[in-house]
Amino acid sequence: MNVWQGRYFDGRSAGAKTVEVRCEQGSLRLDGPEVAVSYSAGQVRSTAPIGAMPWRFDLPDGGALEVNNAALLARQLGHRHDLAGRLERSWKLAVLAVPLLVGTVFAAYQWGLPWLADRGAEIVPVAAEQKLASETLAMLDRYGLADSKLPRARQEALRQRFAALAKGGNPDYQYRLEFRNAEDIGPNAFALPGGTVVMTDQLVELASSDDELLAVLAHEIGHVELRHGVRGLLRSSGLAVAVSVVLGDATSVGTTMAALPVMLADLRYSRDFEREADDFALRRLPEQSVSPCAFSTVMHRIEAEMKRRDREDDREHEGSGKNRPDRPRRESSGDSQESGAKPESDQSDIPAWFSTHPDTHERTRRFADYCPQDK
Ligand SMILES: [Zn+2]
Repeated sequence: MNVWQGRYFDGRSAGAKTVEVRCEQGSLRLDGPEVAVSYSAGQVRSTAPIGAMPWRFDLPDGGALEVNNAALLARQLGHRHDLAGRLERSWKLAVLAVPLLVGTVFAAYQWGLPWLADRGAEIVPVAAEQKLASETLAMLDRYGLADSKLPRARQEALRQRFAALAKGGNPDYQYRLEFRNAEDIGPNAFALPGGTVVMTDQLVELASSDDELLAVLAHEIGHVELRHGVRGLLRSSGLAVAVSVVLGDATSVGTTMAALPVMLADLRYSRDFEREADDFALRRLPEQSVSPCAFSTVMHRIEAEMKRRDREDDREHEGSGKNRPDRPRRESSGDSQESGAKPESDQSDIPAWFSTHPDTHERTRRFADYCPQDK
């Protein structure tokens, strides 16, 4: 049996008495000159020392005991001094800890992750953005985009106006306007990180003026300048990457990296990002003597065309017993307002990038203010 030397204070006189301390059948027993007392372990409270101080045992009769190196004694008395033990004993702390933990996790998720993702995006080099962009475009070219059929002169004319529109932005970005034929996708445009903007032949053919195309391009340049691609990507993948790194799972980090072009192509911008890109277009268009009204008219034109295609699609597959093919849902038409249902997910082979512009009416209101009032 272990015996410790302790200093006993009886709680009535000031002096300490030296005693032998034992744990005997679940009781704390003190023996010394004029002292022979025993307390059941449950009545004694022990306090773990800080640094080289002695352990302190508070006795139920008001006395106290100090013992050096008494961790084993405390354990024998059944007192737990690890964190779990402290939490277990202090139910008040435990009850507080749960909402605190939940709150912390929620705050980290709600505000911490987007903040961290944006800080992370700041240190992503432009070269990495451009590499990601070219890999993503190569992937899209394999899956749904075909060479443009627009006459070269038409492409060049639009490229010149695009270059003027992109001027004055981040000098590190290399702005490039690409045209692609995309019969299945229809009229649309999207921006890749680093400055590449892709516009479909179908959009060029649909627009009634170059100003309408410039309006769309201004919005896309906004996505580039505000780095929405990388920020969105980090917001959605950052957690996965962080978890892999923390868990030291190098293979999974590699897999996440390899999946980035797919994730980028499938990214949906948040409403905030869309509004920011709209704000950018609202500022940039007048500088190029283009009325923001053009954005409103082209968006409604796209919407009408998408609805027409949807109806055509439905007729083609009516009663054929076949499901509709996996064509992308056309949120860009903003038809969610009319149908009342907003497709949350689509199982398309063609990335959802083409369908990230919902709520046409709500969004174009600010642009429509610039339109001549003839009603
Ligand atoms: Zn957008």
